[in-house]
Amino acid sequence: MKLYYDLHIHSCLSPCGDNEMTPYNLVNLAKIFGYDIIALTDHNSCKNCLSAIRAGEKIGLTVVPGMELCTCEEIHNICLFPHIDRAMAFSDYISGTLPNIKNREKIFGEQLIMDELDNVLGKEEILLTTASSVSISELDELVERYGGVCYPAHIDRSSYSIISALGDFPPEVEGKCFELTPKAKAEEYLEKYPATKGRMIIRSSDAHYLENMREPEQMIDLPENSAQALIDYLKGRHIK
Ligand SMILES: [Zn+2]
Ligand SMILES: [Zn+2]
Repeated sequence: MKLYYDLHIHSCLSPCGDNEMTPYNLVNLAKIFGYDIIALTDHNSCKNCLSAIRAGEKIGLTVVPGMELCTCEEIHNICLFPHIDRAMAFSDYISGTLPNIKNREKIFGEQLIMDELDNVLGKEEILLTTASSVSISELDELVERYGGVCYPAHIDRSSYSIISALGDFPPEVEGKCFELTPKAKAEEYLEKYPATKGRMIIRSSDAHYLENMREPEQMIDLPENSAQALIDYLKGRHIK
């Protein structure tokens, strides 16, 4: 079945995410726009994913638990998981790999943990927009241990992307896909960075504000609308 997707969305847990990006709001807006499957990918944490999944269940929108992980090379990667338990276990592991720097709300913004009805459950104290000690070379195997899939985010950006950090898309990067921002020209990257060839291109909003969310354009063809089916697809298991 062909599904409209957006696999890179931040909530109010990300310090740079607007406080209006509550799990309830972003899930319901995605549903109004006509998305079939979305992923919540806050910086280095999955702590709002359960609320987003619950909000999605109420209105029939599949929410995949995820994270935008920053590696020690300052490369952002989208990590997606089949189940909230696996995502939270990964999130707990990653929190132990972050530097112990407290968030300064006035500078970076609040990091709100919320339930599915817009109640604030608490705040994340440790700043989430730092780099973890996990390296890009170990990430694929690490995420695999939690049943998930990962791929480099916004490779066309001039900061926090695999190309900005390493100067290239190294062929040894595992995985069958990578993310381009919605307007980036795929041909340019496929030509300039040969290791991108043959990989799936995922385009998502990277929305930090409700007004960054847009009508869906990108579709993905899955055997069923579920997090597991998405992860299998992104791992290339559909390719015979
Ligand atoms: Zn990013
Ligand atoms: Zn992002």
